Amino acid sequence: MKEIFLLKLGEIVLKGANKRQFEDKLRQNVRRRMKVYGNFDVYIMQSTVYVEPMDDEADVDGAWEACRNIFGLVSLCRCHACEKDLDSIYKAVEAYLGDDLECAESFKVESKRSDKRFPLTSIGISQEIGGRLAEAHPNCRVDVHNPEYTVYVEVRDLAAYVHGPAVPGAGGLPTGVGGRAMCLLSGGIDSPVAAYMIAKRGVEIEAVHFFSYPYTSQLAKDKVMELARLVTKYCGRMTVNIVGFTQIQEAIRDNCPEEFFTLIMRRFMMEISQRIGKDDGCRALITGENLGQVASQTMEAMAVTGAVVDIPIFMPLIGMDKEEIITIARKIGTLETSILPYEDCCTVFTPKHPKTKPTLGQLINAEKKLDREALIQQALENVEKVTVKYDDPAFL
Ligand code: ATP
Ligand code: MG
Repeated sequence: MKEIFLLKLGEIVLKGANKRQFEDKLRQNVRRRMKVYGNFDVYIMQSTVYVEPMDDEADVDGAWEACRNIFGLVSLCRCHACEKDLDSIYKAVEAYLGDDLECAESFKVESKRSDKRFPLTSIGISQEIGGRLAEAHPNCRVDVHNPEYTVYVEVRDLAAYVHGPAVPGAGGLPTGVGGRAMCLLSGGIDSPVAAYMIAKRGVEIEAVHFFSYPYTSQLAKDKVMELARLVTKYCGRMTVNIVGFTQIQEAIRDNCPEEFFTLIMRRFMMEISQRIGKDDGCRALITGENLGQVASQTMEAMAVTGAVVDIPIFMPLIGMDKEEIITIARKIGTLETSILPYEDCCTVFTPKHPKTKPTLGQLINAEKKLDREALIQQALENVEKVTVKYDDPAFL
């Protein structure tokens, strides 16, 4: 039996002149994702991506699971392809969905006919196939208004396809159509969710992580690499830039007023992230910041930390409640790793009474004993770049 996936395009169908470019990108992304599962043909026709296994070795179940995480698709149907005649369609439904019908109390057939040369209308197809199925499954009655199970028949250009209910796709836009952005990735719950949300809008993600050995441990760093790997399940491969932050943090501790420690540190993070990102073609930064969550996440604090960069800072979680963020973290599979109890460099040298309403003038004054440029240069000279892919063995 020949199985094939029909993946329905999401927002791309609304694109005008750029539609072709979006479709090409999506086809490329699906092709790349399918590679590890064997030999698949991937093509787009009539706003649908077709994924067809080319031999018996192909891991169809693995490929199907992977398709559920590809951005740019709204719904996925796992189908059986057959000849475009009623007997073949009926046989295909019986062979592929007969067991499902046996378990259901009621059913209907819903048909679509995009090949207008097919002699029956879509209603005609549904009536004909529905009639035959009702005879073959006397315990499953026809209910066109509220059926427990729906059989779908699609008569398209190349073949007819039969399938059960579609499953939802990952939504969003194809990875790569929205450019590239640099995510400041900590080991917490928020930043992996932020990376996922911006990736969903078609953005390629690169990450930067600051660590302060020996104040933060190797385990904390491994945890971040594992989080990056988990996010690549959705956004494809990712480069993680690991930046040693110890010297900068010690310089801040030794030379700046305590109440500004976190803000000064965050200004260094932003500036270093922008510099690494610009070299790699990133046009925005992404953080997991969330209004009011901690002292450094007030409007005034965000203004002074954002002042050191000149590209947009995306904060997709800005208006969400923690519970809402946790729900997404659980859904995308990062929560369990995020809650492992390793420290982050943000929690080293935290002020007892952090400034919540700072001004830019206060910050510039608080930093005046630091040689910012020299510290930044030193950090940039020692960046470690690691490429992470989902099918790499876990780092933990
Ligand atoms: P998270 O759960 O993502 O750690 P948080 O609520 O703990 O966020 P902060 O620790 O104030 O908040 O950090 C705010 C944002 O700054 C993070 O979401 C992340 O984008 C960035 N960030 C914090 N620490 C680091 C780090 N060590 N390396 C890179 N980025 C970081
Ligand atoms: Mg944190």
